[in-house]
Amino acid sequence: MDMNTIGAVVRTADPAEWRDGDAWLAGGTVLFSYGSLAFGNEPLRRLLDLGSTGWPAVTVTEEGIELAATCTVAELYALPDEPGPGVHPGSWPALALFRPCCDSFVASFKVWNMSTVGGNLCTSLPAGPMISLCAALDGQATILCPGGDSRTVPVAEFVTGDGRNCLAPGELLRSVLLPASALASRAAFRRLSLSNLGRSGVLLIGRLDGGGGLVLTVTAATKRPVQLRFDTLPGADSLAGALEAAIPHALYHNDIHGLPAWRKDMTHRMAEEIRAELSTPAGDTPQHVSGDFWPPRAPALKTAPNTPRNAFPTEAA
Ligand SMILES: Cc1cc2nc3c(=O)[nH]c(=O)nc-3n(C[C@H](O)[C@H](O)[C@H](O)COP(=O)(O)OP(=O)(O)OC[C@H]3O[C@@H](n4cnc5c(N)ncnc54)[C@H](O)[C@@H]3O)c2cc1C
Repeated sequence: MDMNTIGAVVRTADPAEWRDGDAWLAGGTVLFSYGSLAFGNEPLRRLLDLGSTGWPAVTVTEEGIELAATCTVAELYALPDEPGPGVHPGSWPALALFRPCCDSFVASFKVWNMSTVGGNLCTSLPAGPMISLCAALDGQATILCPGGDSRTVPVAEFVTGDGRNCLAPGELLRSVLLPASALASRAAFRRLSLSNLGRSGVLLIGRLDGGGGLVLTVTAATKRPVQLRFDTLPGADSLAGALEAAIPHALYHNDIHGLPAWRKDMTHRMAEEIRAELSTPAGDTPQHVSGDFWPPRAPALKTAPNTPRNAFPTEAA
């Protein structure tokens, strides 16, 4: 979509240059599809282009993985193949979450190669899969402020509602640090969409931390991420009770991709699947990714010759 109210595109990552009517431009997949009238009350007048920051997309250290806000989905998808020098593939089992989260975009070529981790967090849709990944892995977002300061916020608290987040005008998301302790945990992933190749309606990630506690992060089903922490793996009833207490009905998201009642049912079901998966020894169950699937197809239906058009078909042999 043309953004015909834009008078200038400025290459900068300096929040001090931000003024009213500006928007940070990352991959542009939201900006150029929503148009310049969709952000705030006034049309956008300038884009502050993050395309030449030179920030390394991924930095791996002993502390964990730092993702630049400008890291693309394609770059993130490539990471588990070569996480970095000194990282033994088995030492960070939670790397197994990266690809299912990228796949949750069900993305076009454009979104895959252009859209960014930061753009996804800052768009703050309930179905933002980079939000799911970074919140579940206890990501810490670093935010640069127009006055020259910076602050850090847990990603689980960064998104505050459907399309809402904690950024003040002019603030720039710089990066997200995924700590080694979270990457070292065993994880389970579940996702559901109402339609084939559809947007996520429910996306849950569970992690068993080193001490045997469970961290369960609910996204897509809810307007903002909801995180539950248990010191030990809970029983089925206490998990269901904790979900009931943590997510009031009004917090379940309601749009064309799923009604709140369905999202709630599926949240409870998938949370229990995750609990059951993580309660078995690692390696005993194949990692199960529900994702963008249809249940096994029923046998083909056939209609006998000369059947009236409104007759119910019979099952094929
Ligand atoms: C076909 C299609 C399918 C899609 N599927 C999904 C989906 O399943 N789930 C989903 O969540 N989204 C989806 N999207 C929306 C979008 O592509 C993603 O949210 C994407 O990750 C946005 O990233 P971007 O870099 O392109 O953001 P941009 O369009 O560049 O920016 C989006 C917003 O974030 C702000 N912003 C960007 N970077 C920063 C930063 N570092 N600091 C502060 N503000 C910043 C911008 O100013 C703008 O307001 C889809 C879009 C398309 C076109």
